[in-house]
Amino acid sequence: MARTLIANASVFDGTGKAPFAGDVLVEGHRIVSVSAAGSGGASGADRTIDAAGRFLMPGMTEGHGHLSFENVTATENLITPTPEAQVFTAARGARALIDAGFTSVYGASEAKLRLAAAVRDEVNAGRIPGPRIRAGGLEISVTGAMGDESRDHNPRVGPSTLVDGPEEMRKAVRWHCREGIDNIKLDVSGDPFYPSTPGHTTPMAYEEIEMAVRTAHAYGRKVNAHTRSIQGSKDCIRAGVDGLFHCEFSDEELLDMMEAAKDRIVVVPTIDLFHQMASGGAAQWGITAEVAGWMGIPALIEESVKTHTALRQRGVRHLIGGDYGFAWSAQGTQARDIGHFMHYYGYSAAEALVCATANGGRAMRPEGELGTIAAGQLADMVLVDGDVLADPALLLDPSKLLLIVKDGALHKDAVPAPTRTPEYAQ
Ligand SMILES: [Zn+2]
Repeated sequence: MARTLIANASVFDGTGKAPFAGDVLVEGHRIVSVSAAGSGGASGADRTIDAAGRFLMPGMTEGHGHLSFENVTATENLITPTPEAQVFTAARGARALIDAGFTSVYGASEAKLRLAAAVRDEVNAGRIPGPRIRAGGLEISVTGAMGDESRDHNPRVGPSTLVDGPEEMRKAVRWHCREGIDNIKLDVSGDPFYPSTPGHTTPMAYEEIEMAVRTAHAYGRKVNAHTRSIQGSKDCIRAGVDGLFHCEFSDEELLDMMEAAKDRIVVVPTIDLFHQMASGGAAQWGITAEVAGWMGIPALIEESVKTHTALRQRGVRHLIGGDYGFAWSAQGTQARDIGHFMHYYGYSAAEALVCATANGGRAMRPEGELGTIAAGQLADMVLVDGDVLADPALLLDPSKLLLIVKDGALHKDAVPAPTRTPEYAQ
């Protein structure tokens, strides 16, 4: 097997410790050794890439991916396009993410059931570029809640599949499993985009959540939940949900429950959507800061800050990303969340990078073989031209991402040839 040495890098290994000068040897899909730069611990490489002291970090994980979302401004953009067109959309989403240094996508939901599964299979077969993908399917919701856009006088297919009662839930989850979905997504709480069930309400019943978890786990799949309400998040923890999305509202009991479950759950705040709405980033599409105010977005951000700052302090594993693919948040700009995590939740740059890398890797591969740079780990890495800890926004500039490695293969290699000193310089 070919051995590639990335020599003389400033290695941020994803554990949070300070970068060190190191040589990283990759063979096949894995990192075989990490040694002090120039120590010769990694001789015998077929190819050496001189990192020239640049910043080498693990590949990032989008923690709540919607691959098929592109330029979305309303649910209409998810419902109306044909599935055939949306396959291309989802493939473009996958491409944009890996080009941006996201070597993994932990899926939330898609515009149609099998979009992410189809793209995942093509990527895994090596036929199109893209990250590792845990495929999401449809949102599973209940009558009258988020995603149900029908009325008796005006029937309409929404972006979710609707179930009522545990038996219908069991059927929906089994159907998702049959169709190749890795990550089941439940709409447990309400949402500010659905005024009859705002974010603090909990339309889905505990028995429905519990049935979804029991069924999905029996098939070896994961369950993630859209949950903004206190009751919804408590029900998710009690029922054994694996990933909790949003989680703005909390009380002391919920924080205690989440802390007690921290070794088995991941939490994704998905703050960028509300940040854009409240700060005018979505104004050109009609969601001005004033509209966001009527929708109660600033108050939700306040709750998000309180809850997720507390969860950070309690050591709960956060992931970055979520709800990108809107007109104001293109796929591939998910590294904005690193700045959001620092600004809103009090993370240091290094800690936010751990969320982006090691925590994401644990969500993708609970066995712990992804998301850090160490001997034996799967080789997903990004070489950045500049000090990411001093300026995380460097990750948003594709020209600064010189090397993108996924599963040991070079997706991108733009490392300049070493500068040579002319032999006969005068
Ligand atoms: Zn979402």
